[in-house]
Amino acid sequence: MKVCVTGGAGFIGSHYVRAMLAGEYAGYEDAEVTVFDLLTYAGNTGNLPIGHERLTFVQGDIRDADALAAVLPGHDAVVHFAAESHVDRSLVGAAPFMSSNVLGTQQLLDSAVAADVATVLHVSTDEVYGSIESGSWDENEPLLPNSPYSASKAGSDLVARAAWRTHGLDVRITRCSNNYGPYQNIEKLIPLFITNLLRGRPVPLYGDGRNVREWLHVADHCAALQLVLTRGRAGEIYNIGSGVEVTNAQITHRLIELCGADTSLIQRVADRKGHDLRYALDISKITKLGFTPSVEFTDGLRSTVDWYRDNPSWWSPATD
Ligand code: NAD
Repeated sequence: MKVCVTGGAGFIGSHYVRAMLAGEYAGYEDAEVTVFDLLTYAGNTGNLPIGHERLTFVQGDIRDADALAAVLPGHDAVVHFAAESHVDRSLVGAAPFMSSNVLGTQQLLDSAVAADVATVLHVSTDEVYGSIESGSWDENEPLLPNSPYSASKAGSDLVARAAWRTHGLDVRITRCSNNYGPYQNIEKLIPLFITNLLRGRPVPLYGDGRNVREWLHVADHCAALQLVLTRGRAGEIYNIGSGVEVTNAQITHRLIELCGADTSLIQRVADRKGHDLRYALDISKITKLGFTPSVEFTDGLRSTVDWYRDNPSWWSPATD
C-alpha cells in the first residue's frame, strides 16, 4: 500500500502521517507514505519523522502538473489535506485560497486520473455549509459559505465531486468540524490563546464570544478519515464531528484555568467580518461506518495545553 499525503507537513496531515507510520491504522502498518507539501508558512518538516524508512518527503505544489506527474504514479491513494487554511488570512487576501484550494485541487485530481491512482480522499470542512442557528447539517445541505476560505473549500468540494462524475475517479469527501491538538500553527484560536496565556499576554476574543464551534481532537479526525478511506464509498460525502459545542468565551475561560492565567487577559476585539455564529454537524453517516470520537474534550484540551507548555521550541521561533 502506497499513500500520498498532500499537505502532510501541516497540522492535521502530519498527525495522519505520524499515526499511519506508528502503525495505528489496521491494515496500513506497512504502508509507504509520500508527503507532498509546498512548505508554505504553515508547513513544517519538524512535524514529521523525517528519516523514517517508510516516509518520503517531496516539496511540491499541488498546482504543478509536472511535479505531480513525477510523484503520483504507483500510489494507491491520495489523502488530500493541502490547502490555505486560515479564515482570517482569507479576509485580507483571498487569491491564494482560490488558487491553492480550488485550482490546486483540480490539478491534483486531473493528475490522479492521469497517474491511475485508485482513490482520492478530499479533506474538507463544515464551514462550507455556512452558519446554522439551531439543529445540525447533514451531508445534503446546500453549500452556503460565508468567507473566502470556506468558499474556496466549497469550490474544491464541487471540483472533487465533478472528478468522480466525469472521470469515474473514486473520490470521497469529508467535512470536519474544528480541530484542536498538538502541532497546530499558533495563528489559530486555541494555540494562539494557549501560547499567549502561557506568556502572560492578552488573548483577543472576537465580538461577544458567543460564536459556537464543534471541537474534535485531531486524532479523532484522522481516525475518521482512515475509516472513510477503508470503508467509505466513491462519490460519497461524510461529515465528521464530535457533537461537543463550545462558545469561544467558554473555551477562553477553560484555557485561562488550564494555563493558570487571569481573566483580566481577555481583550475584546471587533468581531471578524462575516463571522459565522454556529456550526453543528449531523454525524449519523460516519457513525454508521463505525466512528466514535475517543478523546473527551476536557482531557484533549488539557493535553494540548501541556504539549504547548512542554514544547516552546516548536512554537516560540514563530513569535517575538
Ligand atoms: P495547515 O494550514 O496546518 O496545513 C496546510 C498544509 O498544506 C501546509 O503544510 C502547507 O504547506 C500545505 N500547502 C498549502 N498550499 C499548498 C500547495 N499549493 N501545494 C502543496 N501543499 C500546500 O492546515 P490544517 O489545519 O492541517 O488543515 C488541513 C486540511 O484540513 C485543510 O484542507 C483544511 O481545509 C481542512 N480542515 C481543517 C480543519 C481545522 O480545524 N484545522 C477542520 C476541517 C477541515
